[in-house]
Amino acid sequence: MSDSTSPLSVLKRVFGYDSFRGEQQAIVEHLIAGHDALVLMPTGAGKSLCYQVPALIRPGTAVVVSPLIALMQDQVDALRELGVRAAFLNSSQEWEAIREVENAFARGELDFLYVAPERLLTDRCMRLLERGRIALFAIDEAHCVSQWGHDFRPEYLGLSRLHEQWPDVPRIALTATATPQTRDEIAQRLGLTQARHFVAGFDRPNIRYTIVEKNDVRRQLLGFIREEHAGDSGIVYCLSRNKTEDTAEFLCREGIDAMAYHAGLPAELRAQRQARFLRDDGVVMVATIAFGMGINKPDVRFVAHIDLPKSVEGYYQETGRAGRDGLPATAWMAYGLQDVVQQRKMIDDSTGDEFFKRRSGAQLDAMLALCETVQCRRTLLLAYFGQQSQACGNCDVCLTPPQTWDGTVAAQKILSA
Ligand code: ADP
Ligand code: MG
Ligand code: ZN
Repeated sequence: MSDSTSPLSVLKRVFGYDSFRGEQQAIVEHLIAGHDALVLMPTGAGKSLCYQVPALIRPGTAVVVSPLIALMQDQVDALRELGVRAAFLNSSQEWEAIREVENAFARGELDFLYVAPERLLTDRCMRLLERGRIALFAIDEAHCVSQWGHDFRPEYLGLSRLHEQWPDVPRIALTATATPQTRDEIAQRLGLTQARHFVAGFDRPNIRYTIVEKNDVRRQLLGFIREEHAGDSGIVYCLSRNKTEDTAEFLCREGIDAMAYHAGLPAELRAQRQARFLRDDGVVMVATIAFGMGINKPDVRFVAHIDLPKSVEGYYQETGRAGRDGLPATAWMAYGLQDVVQQRKMIDDSTGDEFFKRRSGAQLDAMLALCETVQCRRTLLLAYFGQQSQACGNCDVCLTPPQTWDGTVAAQKILSA
């Protein structure tokens, strides 16, 4: 390998970074050598470079499977800005644009081709891939293949075909969400039986986890922001669209620079608000979980949940948007038993099948355990992801050991009623 094509020189020259982080370099070298990898790293840790660097070193085009059109667009834009030849194929495109990308691929003029899974598995796309040379397959957000995960996408199930058709092309599957159970499921369903697993630590030591008992939640939220994060950027998650708007209005009336964000708003308004959140200091986004995927703002100082998230995976991913810069940040949640009762009812009344109900119930139970714990929250959170740790000293339970006996009893009463 000549020096100008070594991983480090590509990292510096193309991406402008001085050094690899964590296991990035080991993963890059593993792929360059032609082996499969399963990568588990928290959001923001830098998974993209794990396949982007080897993609530029191995001959051919890297085919990247990504579930969200918005994410794909961002990644392709970012690569192009670096002077890398990248394009995507998804359902948002005109016929003309599709033809152009296909031709570029067939002529070997692309370093990266991003594809939505449902498109990748069409005959047209499989035939197209036969016409070019493939450097590697990267399967991003690989937990989408898991029925136990919070984000199951049936299209991902077909991706094991890639290996059958191109057995010699290395594959890398990446996710931030991986309980030991999900990890095994990903490996099995994608046929990644020979893959080496690279598991990064999931701890985010600069995030302080705090869960308070919910009573007057808007007042509590306001108090939290004023006392601990006045003037800071933050995200407040709610379950319903209406609630994001009501809460944002309330915060504005109280002098906080807040905006609502949910999938029901016009695309233009969403884009505008997102841009403002990224650009300006001290904006609070009150959002449904439609907000956040692919958002890369390092100085989000707090993430607040005023409704109970549906799963620990979701909670971890959402709170993980705080403190990407490594400086102190807070994950704050108000939790009341009413949330649990309501979510149980939603599950029971849903039209989902038995499997869905069982899975949702189990996810809710795990979330409840985190809320009700009398041990360190971080220890419990990390244990959920299969990692052992000591009491952290930086969560509400560690800092002020609570009197939870009455809450637990009340919970048991309500849940068994
Ligand atoms: P993930 O997919 O794991 O959530 P990304 O790949 O989007 O994370 O990377 C998150 C951020 O970290 C990006 O802005 C990326 O440029 C930056 N980053 C990743 N690796 C490095 C590195 N070795 N040096 C500096 N910045 C890095
Ligand atoms: Mg990513
Ligand atoms: Zn702790």
